[in-house]
Parts: sequence; C-alpha cells; structure tokens
Amino acid sequence: MANESCAHIDGLKKVVGPKAHVCDECVKTGSRWVHLRTCQTCGGTHCCDSSPNRHATKHAKTTSHPVVASAEPGERWLYCYPDEAFVEY
Ligand SMILES: [Zn+2]
Ligand SMILES: [Zn+2]
Ligand SMILES: [Zn+2]
Repeated sequence: MANESCAHIDGLKKVVGPKAHVCDECVKTGSRWVHLRTCQTCGGTHCCDSSPNRHATKHAKTTSHPVVASAEPGERWLYCYPDEAFVEY
C-alpha cells in the first residue's frame, strides 16, 4: 500500500483514538454503522463510507477537519480528505 503523507498528517503530534467505539451521530438517531473513524482535529468518532450515513465524510466536509484515523482495533492508518493522503503508522 502506498504511503503518501501530507502537511496535515505530518503536523500531527500524536494519533487521537476513539473515546468510545460508537459513531457520535449514529447513536443519536439509533442508526447502524460498519466501521469507525476518529477525527484528529476534534476527537469525534464517526462512521465510514461503507456505513449508511457516512458521518466521517460529512463531518470532514462540514467542519473542514482534514484528517481521520481508523478507530478499528488492529488498524493503524490516517487519511486526509483534502489531500487524499493515506498513511499507515
Ligand atoms: Zn492533508
Ligand atoms: Zn454515523
Ligand atoms: Zn472533527
């Protein structure tokens, strides 16, 4: 897998993990999700693009918070939306 970083990812001092293993938005509406991503700007955890509500992408677009980390156990990667950069760590 290609490791292509960007200024947003390079600027992170540490990777923020999920506070709880739930989508912050889906729990409010009782929706379900597939995988979870944690926003590296505000620490919010949201569901991936395989989930019906795609809250992680919506969050990134509405807040301009660029970088998410996978919140899945055993997955160690970061993704930057504006740069489409993907980095394993
Ligand atoms: Zn970036
Ligand atoms: Zn969600
Ligand atoms: Zn955020």
